[in-house]
Amino acid sequence: MPTATDVREQVVELAREFAREKIEPFAAEWDRTSHFPRDVIDELGKLGFLGMCTPEEYEGMGLDTITYLMVLEEISAADSALAVSIGIHNAIPTTMLVKHGTREQKERWLKPMARGELLAGFALSEAEAGSDAASLRSQAIKDGKHWVLNGAKAWATNAGTADLMMIMVRTDTPNARRGAKGISTFIVPTDSKGYKPAKPEDKMGLRASNTAGIELNDLRLPADQMLGDEGMGFVYAMEGLDAGRLGIGAQGVGIARKALELSLKYCAERKQFGKAIEDFQAVQFKLADMATRIEAARALAQRAAARKDAGEDVTLYASMAKLFASETAMWVTTQAIQLFGGYGYMRDFPVEKLFRDAKVTEIYEGTSEIQRIVIARALTRHS
Ligand SMILES: Cc1cc2nc3c(=O)[nH]c(=O)nc-3n(C[C@H](O)[C@H](O)[C@H](O)COP(=O)(O)OP(=O)(O)OC[C@H]3O[C@@H](n4cnc5c(N)ncnc54)[C@H](O)[C@@H]3O)c2cc1C
Repeated sequence: MPTATDVREQVVELAREFAREKIEPFAAEWDRTSHFPRDVIDELGKLGFLGMCTPEEYEGMGLDTITYLMVLEEISAADSALAVSIGIHNAIPTTMLVKHGTREQKERWLKPMARGELLAGFALSEAEAGSDAASLRSQAIKDGKHWVLNGAKAWATNAGTADLMMIMVRTDTPNARRGAKGISTFIVPTDSKGYKPAKPEDKMGLRASNTAGIELNDLRLPADQMLGDEGMGFVYAMEGLDAGRLGIGAQGVGIARKALELSLKYCAERKQFGKAIEDFQAVQFKLADMATRIEAARALAQRAAARKDAGEDVTLYASMAKLFASETAMWVTTQAIQLFGGYGYMRDFPVEKLFRDAKVTEIYEGTSEIQRIVIARALTRHS
C-alpha cells in the first residue's frame, strides 16, 4: 500500500515529466500565437489533473493541498498560462461544488470535471466591479421554476474555452438591495442559449490562457442550477478564492523558480571581462537573493496548505502566500532580465515571457493591495 509520501512523489514526478515533455517545448509558440492548448489540458484531465483535490468518492485524486501546490509549481514553471487554466478549475468551481453542490449536481458536474471531461471556470468580476466585486450588477430574476440571467462579466479565465462556468449574479431586487448578501452562484453550461463569450483579451502575459468577458442575454436556467443557498454566492466565491490564492502562490513560485534556473545557467555560460558573469559578486548576490525569496515563498504557501489540510481557516494565510509569492515572482523575473542584460529584453530569450507572466499574479484573484487589506484586517480590529 503506497504511503501519502509515495503518492505525492509519484504524482509530482508525473506532472514534472508531463510538463517537461508536453508543455515546456511548446510554451513559447503558444505564447506567440495566443494558442489555447485544449488538447494538452484534456490529456492532463485524463491523467487526473482536473480532479486533483476532488475527493476520491467523486472520482478525483483526493490529493492534499501541499501536493496540489507542488503539481501547480511544476506546470507553472513550464507554462503558467496553462497552469492558471487548470488551477482555477481545480480551486474555485471544484471547491464550490464539493462544498455546496447537491448530490445531483455532484453527479452531473463534479464527477465529469474530475474525470477531465469538463473544463470549468468562474466569473465574478465585472467591468465596474473588480476589487469591489460585491458591487457587481448582473442580475437573475426568478420566473417560475427558472432563473433568467442578464448582464456582463469581465476577464473570466476559460470563459471562451470552458464547458461550464460558475457565475455570480445578483438575486436580490432593485428595490431591496442586499449588497454581498444579494449575490448567488449559478452553474452555467457554456452551450446554454444566452451565454456569449466575448473575443479573448489581448494580454501582456499568460497569452495562451483564455480570458474573456461574457454576455448573459436572457440566459434561462432551471432553479436546480443554482449552487447552494440563494444569497450565499459571494461567500462561496470568497471560499473558492482561499483555495485559488494558494494556487496563485504556487504559480508565482513556479515562474520564479524557472527564472532562477535559467539565470544560473546563463550566468555560468555568459563571459564578460574574461570570466563567467557568475564569478562577479554582484551577480552572485542577486542569485542568492532570488533563491532565498523563492524558498521563503514556497515555504509560506506550503505552510498555508498544511493549515488548510488540517481544517483551519486559511483566509489570512492564503492572502500572505499569494501576496509574497506573486511579489517574489515579479521581483525575481525582474532580476533575471537584468542578469540576461540586453538578451533578457529580447523575445528570443525565455525570461521576458516569465516577466510578463509574473505581473498578473499581483493582480488577479485580488490585487496585492487587496491582499494587504485582508491581512491587516485579520491582524487589527478593522474587520
Ligand atoms: C488575466 C486575468 C484573468 C482573470 N481571471 C478572472 C476570473 O477567472 N474570474 C474573475 O472573476 N475575474 C478574473 N480576473 C479579474 C481580476 O480578478 C481583477 O482584475 C482584479 O480583481 C482587480 O480588479 P480590477 O481589474 O477591476 O482593478 P480595480 O479594482 O479597479 O483596482 C485598480 C487599482 O486600485 C487598487 N484598489 C482598489 N481598491 C482598493 C482599496 N480598497 N484600497 C487600496 N487599493 C485599491 C487596486 O489594488 C489596483 O491597484 C482576471 C483578470 C486578469 C487580468
